[in-house]
Amino acid sequence: MASFNRVIIDRAALAHNYRYLRAKAGDGVRFMAMVKSDAYGHSMIHAVDVLSAQGCDLFGVAEMNEAVALRDTGCGGDIFVFVGFDHAEVDYFYTHDLTPVVFSVEDLSAISKGNKKFNTTLDVYLKFDCGMGRLGFDPKQAGQVFETCESLAIKPAGIMSHFPCSDDRSSDHSRQASETFFRISGGDIQASHGNRMKASICNSGGILYHPYAHGDMVRSGISIYGYYPDGGAGQQPGENGLRPAMSLMTRVIQTKNVPAGAGISYGHTYITDRPVRLAVLPIGYSNGYFRTMSNKAEVLIGGRRAPVRGRICMNMCMVDITGMEGVEIGAEAVLMGSQGKETIDADQIGIWSDTISYEVLCSLGNNNRREFAP
Ligand SMILES: *Cc1c(COP(=O)(O)O)cnc(C)c1O
Repeated sequence: MASFNRVIIDRAALAHNYRYLRAKAGDGVRFMAMVKSDAYGHSMIHAVDVLSAQGCDLFGVAEMNEAVALRDTGCGGDIFVFVGFDHAEVDYFYTHDLTPVVFSVEDLSAISKGNKKFNTTLDVYLKFDCGMGRLGFDPKQAGQVFETCESLAIKPAGIMSHFPCSDDRSSDHSRQASETFFRISGGDIQASHGNRMKASICNSGGILYHPYAHGDMVRSGISIYGYYPDGGAGQQPGENGLRPAMSLMTRVIQTKNVPAGAGISYGHTYITDRPVRLAVLPIGYSNGYFRTMSNKAEVLIGGRRAPVRGRICMNMCMVDITGMEGVEIGAEAVLMGSQGKETIDADQIGIWSDTISYEVLCSLGNNNRREFAP
């Protein structure tokens, strides 16, 4: 059944963003679309469908269950599992032709057993922590890691790392991290190890702001979905750049006039200072519309900005439509997207809710009914 709340995913925008980023990555660089967390709320299956049609053949997810689900839809590209795996489930790498990103000796042992069981040699990517302080082997231990691989007859097809600050173009950190990283892939260790391994460190920020670090493969998430990792500060005026792919609308379910001095919503955190006209919208924090935006956010109604008044409830919120002629029950309200000349994007919602576009997209996309525009 339908819902008043509709997330619309613009498939043409996803395709455009892919082509834009693919060109930025440069020739000879493989391009991975990160589709974890149901493609940042955009639907993994639909995003992969659009991107595959554009020629993308490389996808990244967090967990094994996402990878298996994706393969089971018939996806023919390479699928990488980034956030480890339960060793009891190692068989899926072989049965579903998936690629592990490995960051511990225990993982390597589990894969060594899998290789024997399936009588094959899986391509494995080794993750190094070059300053993120998250997953990965210590780059100083790279030599030992490669030796362990050799002793277990494991084939490292490539190495990976992740930038912590690539959204900051002026920070020197990315250059240092990439130097540490490419020393592993380019140095003696590599030479003593036969074939040159593929190297990949760039996320969207790396692709856009640190082209010297593209290496053999780049991995884009947020920018596929139409956002700059630094919240738009990187956008050149007039550049035909990224296009946000997700929008969210709902409908007015009641309008009412309230007098001056009336308290609105739980806790009466908003008291009217004059007579106002309110619209009630059937969307709240259970739809991913963060409660921290109470008394801060705005929505678009009749092409104008209507401020949220009082606390955002679980399934509802109230907005001020004083002076907006003709706004009646059933009127469209845009929470994210454009209406008339006005636009509200995930960066703006991130400012109101003290978070980033990434979380806004996951939260709104994964908690509402989605529709897919051609
Ligand atoms: C999510 C993720 C990315 C994509 O990052 P964006 O900033 O969204 O482009 C790249 N690499 C890894 C390991 C990730 O987890």
